[in-house]
Amino acid sequence: SDLGSQKERVVTEEEWLQKWEMGNIGFHKEQGHPLLQKYLDVLLNGRSGLRIFFPLCGKAVEMKWLADMGHSIVGVEISEQAVKEFFSEHSLPYCEEPVPEISGAKMFQSTSGNISLYCCSIYDLSSSVVGKFDGVWDRGGLVAVNPRDRQRYASLMINLVEKNSSYLLVTVSYDPNKHKGPPFYVPESEIQSLFG
Ligand code: SAH
Repeated sequence: SDLGSQKERVVTEEEWLQKWEMGNIGFHKEQGHPLLQKYLDVLLNGRSGLRIFFPLCGKAVEMKWLADMGHSIVGVEISEQAVKEFFSEHSLPYCEEPVPEISGAKMFQSTSGNISLYCCSIYDLSSSVVGKFDGVWDRGGLVAVNPRDRQRYASLMINLVEKNSSYLLVTVSYDPNKHKGPPFYVPESEIQSLFG
């Protein structure tokens, strides 16, 4: 298959937590992603005050950027360290509370209320907990999901978006037989079959 040797590979949640602890986070960029700037109009589609979802958010600076534009941001991230670093690096005061529907999960919310980051596995979320979204910025989300979990991830994402939503997805095109990552190769044909 054109997935090469990646198809069976798994990165565990524990390994992700370790990457954060070791500062092994080459995927994090201090500058906003140029493709978000380029396709912002597609995401917004003339609308304002959107609810925008960041799956597998890390401490993506684009969350602050879109929040400052008046949108309300919801992210999900397994690493509590990442979530706390996001708020502290942007000097944003926040509060922390349990999520009654998800055991062990916490929600970190900026005091201003417009950025809410769930610290749990994305697979624990559902629209009954987080509602539905008008837009999605998926950079480092689908491509970080273990290939065996892609179908589950895509079904969840389809469930979390409103009818007239826009979903911006960043993938990286390369020969998976020559390179190991970043983290997983998602061929265009698979995006078609996952999302239609
Ligand atoms: N979107 C971010 C981070 C991409 S790296 C960015 O653009 O910088 C992928 C992130 O997903 C990591 O921070 C990792 O800790 C987190 N992660 C991995 N599996 C997860 C899961 N099942 N649920 C929630 N977060 C997860």
